[in-house]
Amino acid sequence: MTEAQNLLDLDPLGFVAYCASFGEKPFRARQLQRCIHLNGISDFDAMTVLSKSLRDKLKTCSSIRHPPVLKDCTSEDGTRKWLLDIGSGNAIETVYIPEQERGTLCISSQAGCAVNCFFCSTGKQGFSRNLVIGEIIGQLWMAEFALRASRSRVPSSERVITNVVMMGMGEPLLNFDAVVSSMRLMIDDHSYGLSRRRVTLSTSGLVPMIDRLADELPVALAVSLHAPNDTLRDKLVPLNKKYSLKELMMACRRYLCVAPRNFITFEYCMLDSINDSDKCAQQLLALTRDMSCKFNLIPFNPFPESRLLCSRPERIKRFAQILIDGGVVVTVRKTRGADIDAACGQLAGKVYDRTHLSKRNLQNASASFM
Ligand code: SAH
Ligand code: SF4
Repeated sequence: MTEAQNLLDLDPLGFVAYCASFGEKPFRARQLQRCIHLNGISDFDAMTVLSKSLRDKLKTCSSIRHPPVLKDCTSEDGTRKWLLDIGSGNAIETVYIPEQERGTLCISSQAGCAVNCFFCSTGKQGFSRNLVIGEIIGQLWMAEFALRASRSRVPSSERVITNVVMMGMGEPLLNFDAVVSSMRLMIDDHSYGLSRRRVTLSTSGLVPMIDRLADELPVALAVSLHAPNDTLRDKLVPLNKKYSLKELMMACRRYLCVAPRNFITFEYCMLDSINDSDKCAQQLLALTRDMSCKFNLIPFNPFPESRLLCSRPERIKRFAQILIDGGVVVTVRKTRGADIDAACGQLAGKVYDRTHLSKRNLQNASASFM
């Protein structure tokens, strides 16, 4: 028996092709997509807009499955985190961050990550596998409709998640096709209808894939910089050895020609005595001179055995001031959900480090900074 088609694995064109296989017209595909992604309906009998015969066919051949929830916790500040089971002992995390004017969902794109940045707990777990479309969009589907249900007793059509950031576990540009298909669903009016400005992809700097993203689906771009020169960045973000800062900056400039926002966000994890000197801030200004950008300084979130410290608050303040004085817009990220381990870089690592990579990697990495 062939396995049921998970409808969460279909992007907008996939819906059309799937419905065509039943002899149905494209408008039926859009109706089906709307039932699932706009209205959150998972019971085929409740999809009354579809003909009875199509509903019956769907019931026998397909299903709607997001990864099962292993854990669902809400922090004192309202941040909510789901731990999702993706099989074979792997788990991923999805985090919802409520703010006054918006609700942001932080989505994972891979189980583990091969880039292995010096300060990242996901990287320390090693790479397990790419997520499929249903596991990526399934995070948004599950979170949006769970949040709506917990807000009101009557089914609500008011959107809770207004922004998505691809900043959970994994390097999204190393899972390009599934990530782009999922983002197509995010921006499609027959599903979540988010503007491209409200979908942000964060990357450690895969230059050729930044260009491909510019061609195929330019969403808001965040680049994890973390160092102002190649010597330091080679150590913090090993991918830099392949794509140098010069190449990365050129790719950012090319991206700006098509970006939905007129700036690139540079993320910079503040690590005590490693990348937080006045000189580093000055070098950053020189590196990004004449480029339309914003800096997001992320206080380092320690995790077990990281052996690294976050920069002191006065240091972060001074670092930010140098950038501001140089004419750059700077935000310092607030740590959210720390009581439920939902802060950046703490995702799932506590639960799953089957390979004990963390110990080995950190021993090697710390040695190179001594
Ligand atoms: N792989 C992508 C997106 C996921 S990581 C990337 O690297 O951009 C999202 C952000 O969290 C990145 O800027 C990453 O560098 C940062 N980050 C990772 N570990 C962190 C930690 N322990 N403390 C603070 N920020 C961290
Ligand atoms: Fe991967 Fe991003 Fe973590 Fe680097 S910071 S190891 S790219 S998830």
